[in-house]
Amino acid sequence: MTFSPTRNAALTRLNEFLPLAGSHYTSNRNYDDGVPREEARRNVSQLSPWLHAGVISEKEVLEAVLAKHSLDEADQFIAEVFWRVYFKGYLEQRPSIWLAFCKQRTAALGDLERNAGLQTAYLEAVEGRTGIEAFNHWAHELVETGYLHNHARMWFASIWIFTLKLDWTLGADFFLRHLIDADAASNTLSWRWVGGLHTKGKTYLARADNIARYTANQSGGPLSADRLAEEADALVEMEEHNRSVPDLPAPLKIDQITQPYALILHDEAASHVYLNLPWPPAVVIAAARPSERSPCPVGSPAEAFARGAVQTGAEAASKAFDCEVVNWTNDNDLASILHEAGLEHVLLPYLPTGWTKDALRPQLQPMLTNGHAIEILDDLSRATWPWAKAGFFGIKKKIGPILSELGIIGH
Ligand SMILES: Cc1cc2nc3c(=O)[nH]c(=O)nc-3n(C[C@H](O)[C@H](O)[C@H](O)COP(=O)(O)OP(=O)(O)OC[C@H]3O[C@@H](n4cnc5c(N)ncnc54)[C@H](O)[C@@H]3O)c2cc1C
Repeated sequence: MTFSPTRNAALTRLNEFLPLAGSHYTSNRNYDDGVPREEARRNVSQLSPWLHAGVISEKEVLEAVLAKHSLDEADQFIAEVFWRVYFKGYLEQRPSIWLAFCKQRTAALGDLERNAGLQTAYLEAVEGRTGIEAFNHWAHELVETGYLHNHARMWFASIWIFTLKLDWTLGADFFLRHLIDADAASNTLSWRWVGGLHTKGKTYLARADNIARYTANQSGGPLSADRLAEEADALVEMEEHNRSVPDLPAPLKIDQITQPYALILHDEAASHVYLNLPWPPAVVIAAARPSERSPCPVGSPAEAFARGAVQTGAEAASKAFDCEVVNWTNDNDLASILHEAGLEHVLLPYLPTGWTKDALRPQLQPMLTNGHAIEILDDLSRATWPWAKAGFFGIKKKIGPILSELGIIGH
């Protein structure tokens, strides 16, 4: 399927998928059917690129699904959306995991430079030239389309870590560079989950019979995966990632906003629509930073989608509020943009832990400290993140109460 970075495309895909979000999703979601590129898969939503870019919100998706299905019927799909929110909340409370990932990735990239054998093994993996048909297939699919089915991501990560024995951070980096939906939380924590670092000691082992079973509907027949590792010993790390409760922004109050102000849209929040701004901004600032995902080049589907989402989102906001769009890039700085526009205040959707925050936060920090910049956190994250303390189970049992608290069910 081709992912177009617009809100219309996101809403069209959501509406197309809605009838299938109940029992159809539950029974079929694990199959990687590898359908032709132009068509959307029927068994999963493929909404993740738009969700990651904040073109639509998780709350909008949950509302739409629950308007069509009961919570029982859509239980599995709803839980998957909550996995996304859980991972974000978990990383927010343990940002050292992101820092440790970045540090280990730098070291692993350095090892590739110094070790020709490692470099060869790495290039064979990312160029899809290993002896494992299924793995090669996904490496090509990822680079060409920017999307992989969830099961393929699990198998791929498991083979990368346990069969090819490559550093997990290089695999996670390969995903970050090519997945259109690449997300610091979901990606880093899923790779850690496969490797036995998230649920300590519990790993995910890819098996040839499982791959053949769930790829049976591929046009060329099931994918083969010979000579896979038969054991998956958990990875170990020295660093403890202790939990700290982040200081989350309270719900936005009208009297907090000093007018006139600029609205910043970024890689993880490219639409103004669900922000419900009480006053229109005087300027919209488009701040896309996809190339900050990695020190290595980012794939073109991922780069184009991220830039397109922020650009079309900013243009939509400019039209809605009848104001100008200014691009904040690595070549200009926020202070001069604001100075030229005669503004001192900005509003921006919350910057979660990850590369977008790493890139934008240094210039925003003084304004956040003196109250001239205000971050807006959505209600769903505010209600869910405090429960993302340990395993997903802590969230799972809170899904009903959270949906009620937000008025998504039971009204
Ligand atoms: C190694 C690995 C790396 C991953 N990297 C990313 C990533 O960078 N970005 C990303 O968004 N997801 C990532 N995932 C999670 C998951 O694979 C994708 O969210 C999902 O495949 C997206 O396809 P979909 O929209 O059709 O999902 P659907 O099955 O239709 O699910 C609906 C939504 O729920 C969320 N979701 C579903 N499964 C998961 C999950 N396991 N974890 C977190 N959220 C989930 C997504 O937002 C998704 O759009 C990763 C999983 C693994 C195993």
